[in-house]
Amino acid sequence: MSTLFEKIIAREIPADIVYEDEFCLAFRDISPQAPVHVLLIPKKPIPRVGEATEADQALLGHLLLKVGVLAETLGLKDTDKGFRIVVNHGRDGGETVPHMHIHLLGGRPLTWPPG
Ligand code: AMP
Repeated sequence: MSTLFEKIIAREIPADIVYEDEFCLAFRDISPQAPVHVLLIPKKPIPRVGEATEADQALLGHLLLKVGVLAETLGLKDTDKGFRIVVNHGRDGGETVPHMHIHLLGGRPLTWPPG
């Protein structure tokens, strides 16, 4: 059975898509935790980051490079603004959707440490 995010990739569920290419998709989080909160996902259904394999090396690099592109597009890239990326793995990490995703958060000062 396909996950929620696979359904978004397949356009079976609507999403506010902000970026797409051959390998990944980015869309606004339905429950934003900051003025800008976007999820960047690989189209390949890797369940969670710790289950990526050597075969995913280029894909993982692609995703991180697209973080910079997205941050620029969304007006977060200036160092006097900035942003945070978060990748939750498993129960204690706070993962709720079993399709790897990078949270890109910005638009307000973010506190540290996270909860
Ligand atoms: P995580 O808790 O790290 O697994 O993150 C899953 C994220 O998916 C949460 O921030 C949710 O708000 C978000 N989410 C769940 N359903 C949707 C949806 N239909 N469209 C956009 N974001 C969603």
